[in-house]
Amino acid sequence: MNILKSVNAVSACIPGSHASQIHIRNEIRNYFGYFGMPQLYFTANPSATHSTIFQVMCSNTNVNLTKRFPQLVPSRQRALTLAKDPVAATDFFDFSIKCIFKYLFGWDFQKKCSTSEGGILGPLRSFYGIAELTEQANFHGHFLLWLMGGLNPSQLHECLASDEGFKHRFFDFFEDIIHHHLPQNDGINIDPSYEPRIEHPPRPPHPTQALLDELYTWESDFVTQIKICGEALQRHVCRPVCHKYGKDNYCRFLFPHKIIEASYFGLQSKSIVLMCHDSTINYFNPYILVFCRHNHNIKCILSGKAAKAASFYITDYITKMGPKTYEMLSLLSKAVSNMPATDDCSGPAKAKILLHKCLSQFSRQQQIHGQQAARYIRGKGDSMSSHRTKPMMSAILISNVKSIYLPELSQSSVEDQSEDEEFEPISLRIALDQEGHLMTSNQFHYYYYREPTLQ
Ligand SMILES: [Zn+2]
Repeated sequence: MNILKSVNAVSACIPGSHASQIHIRNEIRNYFGYFGMPQLYFTANPSATHSTIFQVMCSNTNVNLTKRFPQLVPSRQRALTLAKDPVAATDFFDFSIKCIFKYLFGWDFQKKCSTSEGGILGPLRSFYGIAELTEQANFHGHFLLWLMGGLNPSQLHECLASDEGFKHRFFDFFEDIIHHHLPQNDGINIDPSYEPRIEHPPRPPHPTQALLDELYTWESDFVTQIKICGEALQRHVCRPVCHKYGKDNYCRFLFPHKIIEASYFGLQSKSIVLMCHDSTINYFNPYILVFCRHNHNIKCILSGKAAKAASFYITDYITKMGPKTYEMLSLLSKAVSNMPATDDCSGPAKAKILLHKCLSQFSRQQQIHGQQAARYIRGKGDSMSSHRTKPMMSAILISNVKSIYLPELSQSSVEDQSEDEEFEPISLRIALDQEGHLMTSNQFHYYYYREPTLQ
């Protein structure tokens, strides 16, 4: 078990590993600590098979992206192209996500902040996402979004209870960005077999040159588009996958949803319930739907509990197919028995060889999809986030807190920690403390003693 711990510590940087999952969970906690609770949970499922852009990315020169209805080969052939080119598929996913954040959410990737005008959700403060490859080899992105000026649940409940004007603005905003019904548009006949994903989104008129007539035409076009795309991409029909994990009696995505005539805030239960006029339509944003043309899900996270659940939910995706502990132990025993018998190298060198052997034993047994491999080789890990975090070894922190608050115990606890720390590379530096005495310094000291100006 000790060796397994050490191997996990070493593999924290290896994408897809259990240790990387823990690292991501810690990063998300870090975001919670710094930015507070996220307001939105967003899932995007760009489909490479049906995308005209993907065809161009795998160098199909016959596809003209300036046309509203580009000529495409049949879907079977497109699926074959996708299977043959995992690198293009990975790049397509990355491109799609970047476009959503840049053009729809108004995120400036260079400056790592929202553009001044923001996007369809207003200005974003930060985001944290996970790339998940489904069993059908389709990358999904699951994101937690923090909005500029977003409130923590307790503050929010207070405002909703005491300020009627705030409540109206709050519901107006969320009903505007999250829809749970399609437009009433009885005049349109939609062919159920029509595939809106292969059509390009219509181009809105330029705001400065548009005539009023053009704008009206565009508006009605847009509503028609919401209806067409929504029927094909956002309407939930229960399939066997809904009843996975023993959910025999009900759909695990909780469809059909309960009809809610108007959004409300339950003062007693502190529950915020948004309007829902169509029980089988998945939560969506009309702009994402029409311009990205893929299935997606955008939900408001209205309680601390829901935010925590969402963070666990998204990290669980990464290591769904990881090996079980007993499998890992059996692999480790193989690695240990394969150690060379010679005694001509030092203890630390031997430990290094052992760790290396254990890791390669794991990676040899692991099977990952070509698209996932391409993503890792491209230098993209499991997560996609707006801000970088700095991990801190909890052992250092705890031993320092103990040495400050429990000085009589500190000697023994420091010794206890030092054994564990042998495997974790900590850089020790010599520095002067506040009284001018020489001391060893580590990451904790760096934070504890640093100049107030650096804060
Ligand atoms: Zn279902």
